[in-house]
Amino acid sequence: MKISFRPHHFLCTLGFQGKGYSPGFVQNYWQIVIALHQNEELPIQVVQHVDSVCGLCPYNGNGVCATEEKIQTLDLRHSQILGISPGDHLTWKEAKERIKKQMTLQAFHKACQGCQWKSCGVCETALRELREEGP
Ligand code: SF4
Ligand code: SF4
Repeated sequence: MKISFRPHHFLCTLGFQGKGYSPGFVQNYWQIVIALHQNEELPIQVVQHVDSVCGLCPYNGNGVCATEEKIQTLDLRHSQILGISPGDHLTWKEAKERIKKQMTLQAFHKACQGCQWKSCGVCETALRELREEGP
């Protein structure tokens, strides 16, 4: 399975609990999450456009996100905090290590500001749990 993520989707994936924009979007996202859980060494390519998560999103219109401008703001903040750029490849294991080290709770509140899912709390909970894990 080839996986690509826009920068903000690394943290979204950490917190994914089955919520999403449509049944197809959620089903596609579960397949990605399960694949990453089964093999944390799967490489993930960082991209600056629609990615594996966007595949069945109702806001993906012919390969362009309908809220691209807003999404680019999220991507820019996440890429700066995580130190990743389009074209990079990292495994899910490496991505989690980077999130754990570099995405402080303070950084999370800045990075995810404006996201409609932020207030439901699952992303913050997943981040807290990851950062509380031992080395
Ligand atoms: S809203 Fe845009 S960036 Fe988010 S999953 Fe849908 S198409 Fe992708
Ligand atoms: S708050 Fe939004 S952008 Fe941030 S990790 Fe959660 S779903 Fe992704």
